[in-house]
Amino acid sequence: MNVLVINCGSSSLKFQLIDAESEKLIAKGLCERIAIPGGRMVYTSASGEKKITEKEMGDHREAIRLVLEALTDPETGVIDSLSGIDAVGHRIVHGGEHFAGSTLITEEVKRAIRECCELAPLHNPANLIGIEACEALMPGVPMVGVFDTAFHQTMPEEAYLYGIPYHYYRDYKIRRYGFHGTSHAYVSGRAAALLGRPIEELKLIVCHLGNGASVSAVKYGKCVDTSMGLTPLEGLVMGTRSGDIDPAVMEFIAHKEGKGVDEIMDILNRESGVYGLSDGFSSDFRDLEEAYGKGEEAAVRTLKAFCHRVLKYIGAYAAQMGGVDAVCFTAGVGENSPLVRSMICSSLAWLGIVLDDGANHVRGQEIVISKQGEGAKALVIPTNEELAIARETYAIVQKGE
Ligand code: AMP
Repeated sequence: MNVLVINCGSSSLKFQLIDAESEKLIAKGLCERIAIPGGRMVYTSASGEKKITEKEMGDHREAIRLVLEALTDPETGVIDSLSGIDAVGHRIVHGGEHFAGSTLITEEVKRAIRECCELAPLHNPANLIGIEACEALMPGVPMVGVFDTAFHQTMPEEAYLYGIPYHYYRDYKIRRYGFHGTSHAYVSGRAAALLGRPIEELKLIVCHLGNGASVSAVKYGKCVDTSMGLTPLEGLVMGTRSGDIDPAVMEFIAHKEGKGVDEIMDILNRESGVYGLSDGFSSDFRDLEEAYGKGEEAAVRTLKAFCHRVLKYIGAYAAQMGGVDAVCFTAGVGENSPLVRSMICSSLAWLGIVLDDGANHVRGQEIVISKQGEGAKALVIPTNEELAIARETYAIVQKGE
């Protein structure tokens, strides 16, 4: 069964066509600058051949049309016709409390996704447009929604409630939801496989460290806490997002600079994180690491603050779960930065984690990076959200749910 995985951002669309039985990638690509001048699509076939098409895309439907044309193109295509696509898996950012798992997309499901638009105004509307565009262009093909929030729905009340008047939860469902759930679920499953133990007996901490970053506590296969909240702004210091701050900081800046809520939210979302901490030097960890290597003060304080926050969450989650079997690193920074991993793990000897320097420098594979011993282990697990979405889609379509 060929599954087309679609991940719609506000102005971008990533896709992968995956043979769900063999789990082989057939083709993948990215449409950028949708509804913005300068649109282009990068399409890569399974053989690694890349084709760049410069084309304006007025909306996501046009982008999906372009993707389908590329997949069926007589020269560069990988399928003869659209009947070569058996199902579509959509990444959906916010499922609120409606979805604790993936689901076949129906009119009712779309209504629930629409209800969550106010919780994820940048993402959910784009996800919905992607669904409707696929429905229009591939009528009758089953579609599955895979939600970033679903894996975290097992969090207990004490982990997801904020310390604010309870009626805000009752009336508006203001609570912590968590994101990157597909990645946290995939990585914890792979961690159990790498450790050769059933997930039902493991206490895992998953550090998804990318441009967006979050940590979660996964006890016996279920998420019991995670660092992101109502929105992906809470928790770790990220590329450009602040993560946790005292809410009074907003009031202080508002009074000092005469700014409104929207302007301050923009600062917290787009001008903060490692970008803001480094005084606008870079939000890219490769730049920061290089500058750190030269001892540049801005990069040193930034990476230290980033790692400090990750460490704080690891400590909190170890306490919450009453122990840890493994700390797992994933996503752009977690998978590729021996420096960040060693800065974090150098403070984890109390868990029994001592890094193996050689293993910590291996790239691109699932690996235990701590020395053998009695205590917890540190692992690197490359994430694969698209494969996870293809698996979920396959399972649901097979069951005919
Ligand atoms: P993601 O959001 O998971 O795609 O991760 C993006 C982040 O990963 C960016 O900040 C990159 O700087 C970072 N990244 C990618 N490759 C490396 C690398 N080799 N070393 C350090 N950071 C990296």
